[in-house]
Amino acid sequence: MQTFARSDLDALRRYADATAQPVDLTDNTNQWGSPPAASEILREGGAVARYPDMYGAAMKDAVARVVGCSVQSVVTGNGSDDVLDCAIRAFGSPGDRLAYPDPTFVMIPVFSRLNSVVPVPVPVDSDGAMDVDALLATKAPIIYLCSPNNPTATATPENAIRRVLDNATGLVILDEAYIDFTTTTGFAREAASRSNVLVCRTLSKAYGMAGLRIGYGVAHPDVIESIEKSRGPFKLNLLAERAAVTALSHDRDWVMARAADAIEHRERFAAALRQLGLPPLSSAANFVFVPTPRAATLTLALETAGIGVRLFVNTARFGDAIRITIAPWPIMERVLAVLRTAA
Ligand SMILES: *Cc1c(COP(=O)(O)O)cnc(C)c1O
Repeated sequence: MQTFARSDLDALRRYADATAQPVDLTDNTNQWGSPPAASEILREGGAVARYPDMYGAAMKDAVARVVGCSVQSVVTGNGSDDVLDCAIRAFGSPGDRLAYPDPTFVMIPVFSRLNSVVPVPVPVDSDGAMDVDALLATKAPIIYLCSPNNPTATATPENAIRRVLDNATGLVILDEAYIDFTTTTGFAREAASRSNVLVCRTLSKAYGMAGLRIGYGVAHPDVIESIEKSRGPFKLNLLAERAAVTALSHDRDWVMARAADAIEHRERFAAALRQLGLPPLSSAANFVFVPTPRAATLTLALETAGIGVRLFVNTARFGDAIRITIAPWPIMERVLAVLRTAA
């Protein structure tokens, strides 16, 4: 059939998820559920005949309070995916390059190509940390960083991140999707006063609200204005925004307590993996990354037992690997039981 679609997108495929399993540890969402106050707001519902606020004013206000910046320094989005996509479109002219540590968030090369930006992968170090000098040496107009990084779970030291922010020649996008699992406060507040940094965060992971699609970015007001031009209005739906505002202002304790649970279980799980001869990389997030040549076999064994994990094939630096989201301990115990028999 004759096609009228852009030919430069021919090589792209739709996002293909692993087949859904009864226990889903594939996507790093909150396996303890959703926060109570936000859930209550959703149960109450509300009128939806009218449009939501165009740029998410109430959400911006809540984010500004949490971060300690002005509302002009906040952009909201339909998930942080949306913020990332809009930022790449706003700052990358067709043919520009975007440099990123490889492996990192799988959507980055995809959003780059969708916006006619050329993805430039820069392999991470053998411990999973990004190679700051190699990233800077690309002199790319956009550098993407992710700390803690998905899928390696590795956190990059603050001084290394700051070195990129100080020396980059264009926009630096710092993805802090997993910041709530660290003891650091991240760079959001600092981003508001710099001219070249966008910090992206999401309510999909620690906040337990992936289904609502809520993300935000913090940057200098000039950067935010450019991103909002490429974003357009009405990206946050009315009920999701109301739940997000509630979560940010009333559910912080629940979020931190569940993050602490995830960290405790992660350390216990990582120790058990080491005993099985499957050492994960050092994790600063709610998942572990386990490089092993037997990744495909182990993934299949887990799926046969009704447990979904994310398989990575032939990654830069680590080859085949599995990424496993941390869940309440009885579930991790089931994972270990399968790995013990398969190992
Ligand atoms: C999950 C994830 C996101 C996407 O979050 P959404 O807000 O659900 O779109 C962004 N960046 C990284 C690194 C992630 O792991």
